[in-house]
Amino acid sequence: MADIGQPISPSSPTFPGLSYVHPSPTSPWGTYLAQVDRVLPYIGAQARWAETLRRPKRALIVDVPIELDNGEIAHFEGYRVQHNLSRGPGKGGVRYHPHVTLEEVMALSAWMTVKNAAVNLPYGGAKGGIRVDPKKLSFKELERVTRRYTSEIGIIIGPHRDIPAPDVNTNAQVMAWMMDTYSMNTGATATGVVTGKPINLGGSLGRVKATGHGVFVTGREAMRRLKIKLEGARIAIQGFGNVGAPAAELFAASGAKIVAVQDHGGTIYNPGGMDVAALTAHVQQFGSVAGFMGAEVIGAEDFWNVQMDVLIPAALEGQITAARAERLTAKVVLEAANGPTVPEADDILAQRGVAVLPDVICNAGGVIVSYFEWVQDFSSFFWSEDEINMRLDKIITGALGHIWDTAERLKISLRTGAFVVACGRILTAREERGLYP
Ligand code: GLU
Repeated sequence: MADIGQPISPSSPTFPGLSYVHPSPTSPWGTYLAQVDRVLPYIGAQARWAETLRRPKRALIVDVPIELDNGEIAHFEGYRVQHNLSRGPGKGGVRYHPHVTLEEVMALSAWMTVKNAAVNLPYGGAKGGIRVDPKKLSFKELERVTRRYTSEIGIIIGPHRDIPAPDVNTNAQVMAWMMDTYSMNTGATATGVVTGKPINLGGSLGRVKATGHGVFVTGREAMRRLKIKLEGARIAIQGFGNVGAPAAELFAASGAKIVAVQDHGGTIYNPGGMDVAALTAHVQQFGSVAGFMGAEVIGAEDFWNVQMDVLIPAALEGQITAARAERLTAKVVLEAANGPTVPEADDILAQRGVAVLPDVICNAGGVIVSYFEWVQDFSSFFWSEDEINMRLDKIITGALGHIWDTAERLKISLRTGAFVVACGRILTAREERGLYP
């Protein structure tokens, strides 16, 4: 592949790196910068504008103080990063996790820019996060954190400015509080300020399962092109939450076997395939796959050695390291998580002939249905679930076809192909708008 082995540089030779982050080759922002480096040889004269991709347009850091139920005052770090707004308002989720950092949110916001452009949604890219362990908060404390964070970032979000959505550890309830807080502060109910809301409050049918649905459509199309049978295919999934569980359900319904699942609680294995409905019910009841009777327990690192045809990383960044990439038996990797593969592992997988379906297309189902929700909110006219799923399928299939053809034509990986398509759109918009003033 032509894009293998190019240098990983934290900044271009012309510009110094940003003073406020210190990426490494395997950290999220370092991974993103390496992906940008790889696309530059293929974007011609637009490379003149490429530095725009290497710096977020705007990064807001906020203090989020709340009173805990026991009367103590706690402070949390919050972020909202708008990486690029050339193609439209910012769009991207909000993550609650004890290890969230500015660097991580920057990378996630940049991947949103690329993702939204790769599937041609009229959005820029943004992302938010709070450095908090939501599992340690009561329901009321979670509400207070969410409302204070929303007020703090209220100066840069809005239905036409930047539209948050769920991500790791956030859900429809959190979006309802965000929508209400923003609406209270502005004096009018603004359903279009967030997506992923409850159906009652302007949410869209199909949104909860949309990311998993998009992963399935991407996998189905990729396997069709690669002539790998879906029926009987052995699938291993890391992460069994908002994305992993619905994806598992759809693959199992098409005859594939879910042979291994790993989450924060443990790793389980059943070469005959697991009962996905029973596993989903177990996770809903106990919060993790640990203790599920329909599979045996294996070691965390053994997950990567399991005999599998398809790997679905559906958890956090940086999981597919170089060492794990060497051992992987999968023929196809479906990146349901954002940034799960480090650049060195990407090269190893390419050399080993493993097809990596990049996050920026594979997990775009969530933001695609977010876009449908936003459009429905503005027109106050709501679509059927069948219509939503049909349009979602069409957008992913069309975008993947374009990316696949681009990658084949230029003899590059699917990831670099997706970046060529997306960065072409982003930098064209940048150039057409011109520099202000
Ligand atoms: N958090 C999801 C993602 O990473 C969805 C973002 C959205 O719907 O705006 O793509």
